[in-house]
Amino acid sequence: MVKTGMKPVDDTIENQKICRQYCGICPTFRGNKLGEVPPHELFCGRGTSSAQSKVKTMGCFCPACELFTRHGLIIGYFCATR
Ligand code: SF4
Ligand code: SF4
Repeated sequence: MVKTGMKPVDDTIENQKICRQYCGICPTFRGNKLGEVPPHELFCGRGTSSAQSKVKTMGCFCPACELFTRHGLIIGYFCATR
């Protein structure tokens, strides 16, 4: 879970749908096939990808996501270990 001073991002169907509009089409997600391994999406709420190899960062669409703004998140790349 990403720590913020605001309400955490809940793992809900509604939030999954919102996430898919951004994570689902981002170059990092596609390039690393992140949809094939847990937690599949909603990385800001569920945590980083469990992909075997380190996630290669190629761009992040999180800053455009309404949950990013609503929850006061910063930077993005929630799928990758930093
Ligand atoms: S902030 Fe990023 S990880 Fe979180 S729901 Fe939006 S697109 Fe997905
Ligand atoms: S967290 Fe950012 S970099 Fe990772 S899949 Fe979602 S939009 Fe792409």
